[in-house]
Amino acid sequence: MSYRVKSIFGPTLQGEGPRAGAPCLFLRLAGCNAWDGRPATRAASACPYCDTDFRGGEDLDLAAILARLEALAPGARHLGLVLTGGEPLLQADADLLMALAARFPWVDIESNGTRPCPPRPANVTVVVSPKAVPGQPVVAAPDAWKVLIPDQEGFLARALASGAPVWVQPTSPDQGPQGAAYQAALARCLALCLEHGCRLSIQLHKQLGIE
Ligand code: SF4
Repeated sequence: MSYRVKSIFGPTLQGEGPRAGAPCLFLRLAGCNAWDGRPATRAASACPYCDTDFRGGEDLDLAAILARLEALAPGARHLGLVLTGGEPLLQADADLLMALAARFPWVDIESNGTRPCPPRPANVTVVVSPKAVPGQPVVAAPDAWKVLIPDQEGFLARALASGAPVWVQPTSPDQGPQGAAYQAALARCLALCLEHGCRLSIQLHKQLGIE
């Protein structure tokens, strides 16, 4: 069994969502069901603001993945693990989640919510940033939501009603986090926090200029 892996990197900080600021390694699986990743199809995709390169990658088995992670921070046990993509739940299975959970103090899965999560240990959490993908409804019942504003605000009522904590995050269009569109989205996020009890996620890694 192998997994298509786009990149393995760190140590760095998780930049967004419930673990923002936490030191960690990243395992980015290749591929996504919301966009094929080609520039030509980006504007018409479910995520025209997508800031991630998830195409390509290499096939690695579980042992190779664990070895690559270990090599990034030999012996370190204070670092968590962010399992992301693309859409990581297109590939992640119970074997992968069990192995990562045994190696790291915490594992956060970043998903678009259109795939159910396999059985997972208690230190594995699912953070869903829901996306409106045609024909692929959001089926997840996540531990936390991260709703992108304004693009995915249509999911906000559902997220708030679920009882799980809700982070709101301004999308960062191509002009970057200093652009006018970003500032407008940030202002909307602040209003949602104050009016509905959402929490703010501002992609610290972009503010800090780290991966
Ligand atoms: S679901 Fe995430 S990784 Fe996939 S296209 Fe959308 S923003 Fe990008």
